[in-house]
Amino acid sequence: MIAMELKPIKEILQMLEGYEKIVLFGDSGCAQMCDVGGILQLEDMEELLSSHGKIVLGYVFVEGGICDGNAFKLSVANKMHMLEEADAYLVQACGVATQVVTEALPAKEAFPATNTQFLGSMPERFMHYEKCSMCGDCVLHLTGGICPITRCPKGLLNGPCGGAMNGKCEVNPEQDCAWQLIYDRLKALGKLDNIRKIWDLRDWSPTHKPRKIEVTGDSMMS
Ligand code: SF4
Ligand code: SF4
Repeated sequence: MIAMELKPIKEILQMLEGYEKIVLFGDSGCAQMCDVGGILQLEDMEELLSSHGKIVLGYVFVEGGICDGNAFKLSVANKMHMLEEADAYLVQACGVATQVVTEALPAKEAFPATNTQFLGSMPERFMHYEKCSMCGDCVLHLTGGICPITRCPKGLLNGPCGGAMNGKCEVNPEQDCAWQLIYDRLKALGKLDNIRKIWDLRDWSPTHKPRKIEVTGDSMMS
């Protein structure tokens, strides 16, 4: 999921300075799972903004993700009157969501209530761990399912830097060295030969932005 945190309320209030009537946006996807844009957080934000003199007209809560164009259109369809009455929108979801709202409803300004952080896992509530940098050319099949680009602070692809101490990373001793984890995993899998492979210079062109994927009927089999 996309991991994100709410911005400090002081920053949100600064963004909304000069705007009185606000509509909030949240969704049941990453925003709810990160506890920033579920129904409870929308209600909390309504109370908070009201206590600072704002008028919250209501909220749009998208079942799924705001990034899903169809789900978004369905959710706003019967709320156009409220959206037209608003002075501004506050989006309690990721940076993509704020841009979706901006593009779909350009007559009013949409502000981000969150800081979008990374693509990660959530093994338990309130804990998010960065796991993937969306490099566009996944190598997990060679590294025992552990991402060296994301989990090694140096993003090393050809083995460890040599600074690990007792299996811990020299950059952050609180975390395991990613290459130690990869070694242990490959050893358990009987695939240690993978670690001896010297990889060619990596082609980073798949990460050139902005990227686009067009899914066609043939994509699965090509
Ligand atoms: S190699 Fe790492 S950054 Fe690239 S797609 Fe796989 S998990 Fe993500
Ligand atoms: S100690 Fe391990 S995880 Fe840390 S920078 Fe070096 S190779 Fe990467």
